[in-house]
Parts: sequence; structure tokens; C-alpha cells
Amino acid sequence: MEYSLNELQKTIRQMARTIAEEKILPVRATLDEKEEFPWAIMKDLADTDMFRVFVPEEYGGLGGGCLELCLVIEELSRVCPGVAVSYAGSLLGSFDLLKYGSEEQKRKYLPDIASGKRLAAFGVTEEEAGSDIGNIKTTATRTDEGYVINGTKRFTTNGGEADIYTVVVLTDKARGARGASVLLVEKDTPGFSFGRKEKKMGIRTSATRELVFEDCLVPAENLIGREGMGFIMTVNLFDYTRPGIAAQAVGVAQGALEAATDYARERIQFGHPIISFQAVQHMLANMAIDVEAARALVYAVARTIDSGGKKFSKESAMAKVFASDAAMRVTTDAVQILGGVGYMRDYPVEKMMRDAKITQIYEGTNQVLRNTIALELRKKKAS
Ligand SMILES: Cc1cc2nc3c(=O)[nH]c(=O)nc-3n(C[C@H](O)[C@H](O)[C@H](O)COP(=O)(O)OP(=O)(O)OC[C@H]3O[C@@H](n4cnc5c(N)ncnc54)[C@H](O)[C@@H]3O)c2cc1C
Repeated sequence: MEYSLNELQKTIRQMARTIAEEKILPVRATLDEKEEFPWAIMKDLADTDMFRVFVPEEYGGLGGGCLELCLVIEELSRVCPGVAVSYAGSLLGSFDLLKYGSEEQKRKYLPDIASGKRLAAFGVTEEEAGSDIGNIKTTATRTDEGYVINGTKRFTTNGGEADIYTVVVLTDKARGARGASVLLVEKDTPGFSFGRKEKKMGIRTSATRELVFEDCLVPAENLIGREGMGFIMTVNLFDYTRPGIAAQAVGVAQGALEAATDYARERIQFGHPIISFQAVQHMLANMAIDVEAARALVYAVARTIDSGGKKFSKESAMAKVFASDAAMRVTTDAVQILGGVGYMRDYPVEKMMRDAKITQIYEGTNQVLRNTIALELRKKKAS
């Protein structure tokens, strides 16, 4: 489908596609097998200015918006969603800086993030605070020297690999979620270390790790935004970044559709290519419908965000839910179309099915996001 992309958007998409095909494709199975962080590819992405896409020009970026970012994530995910989320994790970790950071904080950190010299990461999730992010327990006590952080974050994407961490902490424990704030912590800060590294079903090349804070002192100027705004900032952050997860889902679904179509053209059974059987044709048709419908919704929401729309919580959730459910259907059917070999690691579709699953879980599970959508519907009568 024609999406009327402008010249810059087409260039960005083509560059991301080239990196995906030339640099990621040859190593994706090895990265998955070894569960190795894709540092060489992060360097390729940095060298081709891909980290600049989401940073404003005054801080060394290209000044792109949500759509440009989605195009990069989609192309990388078409080949390897694990690489894509390592890239996108740096946006997640820098978003609060971009939106709420002081001029001084932006000048200090954003140029290095834009050049890809330093990766960023974002941590809100804790053992007792998953879907219920208002239940975080990590504290940051204000002292004359700054904030002293204690607690553990879990499942942090880019944990251990990134240099810059934005973490949600309680600066006023008594007020619960209303006492939450966002602090920036640099990797080598004393009292900050990394715990358990998760062994995952999919997106195995990405790093998912615990952040451990033990009397970790950070300067008061590392507060992003204002004290007490952390919960609202986090809810807002995910409204902006969920289309990126949806783009990840569109990319992996597109990759699976292509792999299944190619295989169905080549595979001969009963004297005919299996693509000549109507049962297979209809599966491929449904997969193509899913991919295109998801893409159209993701781009539409991204454009709404980029045009300065103020209320897009519901739409952002819809894009993430629809695209991730579609990705799960499409990748599962891709395995089915490849038959026995689809189940084998020699072919890429089993990895795609494993990689697709996470898109239904992180940045708000699809059940919780359906709650969000329903809540909006309950608020006012449909016009
Ligand atoms: C690979 C990976 C990377 C991640 N990266 C990050 C990161 O970079 N930073 C970060 O902060 N977090 C990250 N997360 C955390 C992720 O966002 C959470 O795992 C997710 O929000 C779900 O929380 P949970 O795992 O605690 O599940 P739970 O909240 O325990 O949910 C368990 C089940 O209960 C359901 N459920 C819970 N509450 C409700 C409800 N009210 N209504 C209906 N159903 C409900 C859920 O849908 C789910 O099916 C990552 C997680 C993974 C697996």
C-alpha cells in the first residue's frame, strides 16, 4: 500500500533495510543461539546515523518523529526483532530526557545518544510492580549530597549494556505512585550494579537484566522533570512508545509472510507447489491482510502523534494490541506453512514466532491495554 512517505522517510527506511539485510541477516541465527548483545550492529546503526533519527536537530539528531522511528524499527524487526528492541530501548531510555529534561541535561546527554556513542535504558518494572507500575518500591531519599537510591528493577532492556539509565523511583514513599519521580543514573555510579541476566524465549540477542541500587548516590540535578511526576511521565512515555512496539510486530510479521510465501512457491507436494492449494493460499491471504491492516494503523497513530495530537492513549494501545496479536497469528501460520522444517532452527520462522510473542507482553500486556481502551470507551458516549 502507498503510504505517501516523504523523501527523508523513504531514505531512512531504505537505510534501515540495507543494514538489516547486509549486516543483521548473516548473523541473526548466531546472535539468537549465543544470546549475544549485538554490539557490532549497534555500531553499524550508529555509523549510519540511525540513533539520530529520534533526537532533535539542536542536540545532534535528525529531528524525526514517531513515524520515522517506526520505519526503522519495522525494517530491523523484519530481519531480527531482538536487534530492533536493543535499538529502540535507547529511545525508551532517553524519552523522559527528550520530553522533560532541562536544557543542561539535554546538552549533556542527548548528543552522545544521537551519535550512538552511549546507549540508554529505562527501568520501571520491579518484582511486585509489573502491570501495576504504581506499586514500585525502589526509593530515592533526598540528602544534602543528592538522592540515595535503594531497590531493584527487573527486566530492563539494555540493562548492563547501556551507559545511561532513567529509572522510576519513590522520592516520597508515603504518597505511593504520587510520590514517584524519574532519576537519571550513569552506569559507573557507585552503588549501582547489574543482577540477573534473563534467559529468554525470544529476542535473545537483546539484554534483559536487573538493575540493583544499594545506597547509590546521584546528584540532585539528575532529577528529570519534577518530583512526584514520575507516574504520569511513565504513563505518557508508553503512549508515545507503544507504536514502536507495534512497528516491531509489523516488521516480524512482514518477515514471516515473506518467508512463508517464498517457501510455498518452492515446495512441491502432490506434484504441485503448495501455494497452488487453496488452504495455503487463504492462510497467506489472511497473513497479508493482517500485516497491511496493522501497518496502516501503526502509521496512522504515528502520524497523529507527529502532528501534535494530544489524546492518543487509546489509539496507541489499539495499534500495539492489534499489531502484536496479528504478529502472533502471522508468525504461527508461517511455521504451519513451512510444515516440519518450519519447526526447525535451520529456517527463520520458528525464531520469528518466538520473537513475536514478547510484543503482546511488554509496554503493557494486551489484556491491560484492552482495559485502557475499554476505559476510554466508557468515559463518553460514542458519537
Ligand atoms: C523481554 C522483556 C523486556 C522488558 N523490558 C522492560 C524495560 O526495558 N523496562 C521496564 O521497565 N520493563 C520492561 N519489561 C517489563 C514488562 O513491561 C512487564 O513484564 C509487563 O508490563 C508485564 O508485567 P509482569 O511481567 O509483571 O506481568 P503481570 O503484571 O504479573 O501480569 C501477569 C498476567 O496478568 C495479567 N494482568 C495483570 N493485571 C491485569 C489486569 N488489571 N487486568 C487484566 N489482566 C491483568 C497480565 O495481562 C498477564 O497476563 C520487559 C519485560 C520483558 C519480558
